[in-house]
Amino acid sequence: MFPMPSVKKIEGKINIRGSLRENEPMAAHTTFRAGGPADLFAEPVDAQDLAALFGFCRDHNLPAFVFGGGANILVSDRGIRGMVIDMSRFNTLSIDNGILSVGAGLAVSDAAAWCADRGYAGIHFLYAMPGSVGGAVWMNARCYDGEVFEVLEWVDLLSRDGTERRYTPRAEDFAYKVSPFQSDDAAILRCGIRLTAREPDSVWEQMRGYQTDRDSKGHFAAPSAGSMFKNNRAFGAPSGVIIDRLGLRGFRVGGAQVSPLHANIIINTGTATATDIDQLATHVEEAVFTAFGFRLEREVLRVGDWGDAALSPSS
Ligand SMILES: Cc1cc2nc3c(=O)[nH]c(=O)nc-3n(C[C@H](O)[C@H](O)[C@H](O)COP(=O)(O)OP(=O)(O)OC[C@H]3O[C@@H](n4cnc5c(N)ncnc54)[C@H](O)[C@@H]3O)c2cc1C
Repeated sequence: MFPMPSVKKIEGKINIRGSLRENEPMAAHTTFRAGGPADLFAEPVDAQDLAALFGFCRDHNLPAFVFGGGANILVSDRGIRGMVIDMSRFNTLSIDNGILSVGAGLAVSDAAAWCADRGYAGIHFLYAMPGSVGGAVWMNARCYDGEVFEVLEWVDLLSRDGTERRYTPRAEDFAYKVSPFQSDDAAILRCGIRLTAREPDSVWEQMRGYQTDRDSKGHFAAPSAGSMFKNNRAFGAPSGVIIDRLGLRGFRVGGAQVSPLHANIIINTGTATATDIDQLATHVEEAVFTAFGFRLEREVLRVGDWGDAALSPSS
């Protein structure tokens, strides 16, 4: 175990313009509204800050987890050891020659709205999806008529050793909910998105349609992280349909519940711990395996100190 440095010690060693706090409750930052504290929570304002934080973590053997909007993670009740690096202040936007350059920390909805107001579609399909641009790129998020890869022109990354590089997307690096950034511990700083000129009213009409559709499906009726399990064509039906066949809609563990509105969404009914949510997901996985002989794959990432082999912050 690494000794946890205090904010004072860190500020004595590196100079950053952004902020740094101790014991930050992650439930306040995740869409599940569950999860324990991060030992350290940093909000860098630029690549220089981020490089300094990465350098400090490397020199002190501290894990560092790059955090977007917290819409696709389940943070352990014990929290996250080491440093969580919140990218929300990387939020710049500009358009040059039909390419949007957008900071990784901006909410995808805000980026889509900004483009629509100026008469551009391209990122519109992500409107009303929770999370940041960086998280959507990392997940190769997809919804409605689009997938991030299809509009991605370039991605600027900062490696843990402090070097910046530009990646140009290649089709073979991407698949359903797969991107090359998942096997690269660099932080996504910003990316270029190909835009298409369109009447603002028509883009807004389409985007409001997405919002209405999500509202009608109960996406925002209770805290969740959206789909809990990936869909797998080999299983012959979407994960939600498979879970429904077992009559698990509405099934509860503690304060966690399989959404009564959508069987592939696990919701926090108000009192769920991360353990409740994790145990419910495990129950669903086991029920599906027993009934059908295959294992659902989780889409939501387990992050932090689970005391087992769960995904932990990359260091
Ligand atoms: C109601 C609801 C509906 C949803 N609907 C959809 C949907 O239709 N389609 C879909 O694909 N998803 C959906 N999701 C899931 C979620 O919105 C997406 O996966 C989103 O892209 C997650 O982005 P985030 O910024 O919140 O990532 P986080 O949850 O913060 O992080 C996810 C992963 O990305 C990494 N990451 C984040 N930012 C960076 C960065 N700048 N650099 C490097 N790594 C980074 C993190 O380290 C982590 O490993 C939904 C979620 C909710 C709550």
